[in-house]
Amino acid sequence: MSGRGWTNWGRTSRSTPAEIVRPRSAEAVARALRRASAAGLPVRPVGAAHSFTALARTDGVLLETRGLAGLRGVDRDRGRITVGGGTTIGATARLANRFGLAFQNLGDIDHQTIAGAISTGTHGTGGAFGPIASQVVGLQLVTPGGEVLEIGEDDPLLPAARVSLGALGVITAVTVQCVAAFGLAAEERTEVLEPVIAGFGDRVAAADHFELYWFPGTGVALTKTNTRIPAGEVGPRSSRVRRLVDDELLSNGVFELTCRLARQAPLLVPPINRVAAHTVAERAYRAPSHQVFASPRRVRFAEAEWAVPLEQLPQAFDAFRTALRRSRLRISFPVEVRAAAADGSAWLSTSFGRPTGYIAVHCYARDVQRDYFRLAERVFRGYDGRPHWGKLHTRDAADLRGRYPRFDDFLAVRRRLDPGGLLRNPHLDRVLGLP
Ligand SMILES: Cc1cc2nc3c(=O)[nH]c(=O)nc-3n(C[C@H](O)[C@H](O)[C@H](O)COP(=O)(O)OP(=O)(O)OC[C@H]3O[C@@H](n4cnc5c(N)ncnc54)[C@H](O)[C@@H]3O)c2cc1C
Repeated sequence: MSGRGWTNWGRTSRSTPAEIVRPRSAEAVARALRRASAAGLPVRPVGAAHSFTALARTDGVLLETRGLAGLRGVDRDRGRITVGGGTTIGATARLANRFGLAFQNLGDIDHQTIAGAISTGTHGTGGAFGPIASQVVGLQLVTPGGEVLEIGEDDPLLPAARVSLGALGVITAVTVQCVAAFGLAAEERTEVLEPVIAGFGDRVAAADHFELYWFPGTGVALTKTNTRIPAGEVGPRSSRVRRLVDDELLSNGVFELTCRLARQAPLLVPPINRVAAHTVAERAYRAPSHQVFASPRRVRFAEAEWAVPLEQLPQAFDAFRTALRRSRLRISFPVEVRAAAADGSAWLSTSFGRPTGYIAVHCYARDVQRDYFRLAERVFRGYDGRPHWGKLHTRDAADLRGRYPRFDDFLAVRRRLDPGGLLRNPHLDRVLGLP
């Protein structure tokens, strides 16, 4: 198939690839890579296109991975599940659940492919948990030369390949180290913002999974605290239905309305935010972990997210809040604040080597406010911020190298696996500093 326009979920990246291929096996991936190489066309793999950055953008060959989906195997003794790289997080979680297993932590949604999610360091929240990539103990990777590598737990390539931006090869299968299926008791409340931010580290330490949303211009935080409970203690089915109604009507329906209103009348943003902060229902419910971690996001947005040292999060947040107050920007979308453990599993993990606090800024996709993202970037860079690889930022290798101690080791692996530079595009060239 050729000459088809492509765009990502957030409508922040578009291209017209010369060719779109949809391989269904590792062998077909290898053939596609060899063919592109012979034709002198660059290749970009793409999963669910949920990255906001131009990582997957290409005028060459777009290699769609959704055909590489499904269960490949289960190791019941070790609690491991292997799926095709194009399997969505949600499908993987449901498959795992069938065998009494679960991801130990997940992000906000589950529509990403497992390979795409790990490739940018996708994470959830929880002071004792790393990104999804840290749960990966094996990968099948087709190199740009067409070789099919089985990368096991002790393989020195794994720390480079877990978070690899689609720069080392095409991931055709992923093995996840699961935990026994568990439930989450979720509690969502509105609280006064300042003490929550000042005590963010303590709140993270006291809970299994803590996060907050702040509606700019208000002094209110919507806090979410999830506590791990045995699988047998999840609530009745009706509570799930109620939760879906809440998510759909409040988090999505009302939210779409407030975003549209704010776009028509920016002066109304502060009062709208105050109403929105109080409209989001306080609620408590219990459900299987994968149903609580992920919730629907139907309002299309653009996003940037910065990873700062956890102990500096309160200062970084306050500096951001002050800068935003001094600006003329009116932001209708909440800011999300999360945390993760120090991660040693992947060299390009945004939480590599340090307990991490994450601050994510969003805006309505119909009204992308670049000044807002620039303001956040300026503030968070001052706190040794690392940008999420899949979310909007303007950093380049000259800056990123100093923020990742193993940056050059990653580049050495890339040079070895892709000496001819098949898996490239201008965005990747910028962030990795490729000549
Ligand atoms: C609504 C929404 C909610 C989100 N929530 C979170 C969140 O809670 N936490 C968080 O950290 N992030 C979040 N993100 C960001 C998202 O998880 C990442 O951008 C993720 O990489 C997207 O996965 P994907 O399958 O869409 O990959 P894509 O965006 O398609 O690709 C991402 C990268 O992986 C590469 N790639 C994809 N498939 C393969 C493969 N098979 N082999 C090799 N390389 C591959 C691509 O080339 C690209 O470099 C969210 C994004 C959206 C739109």
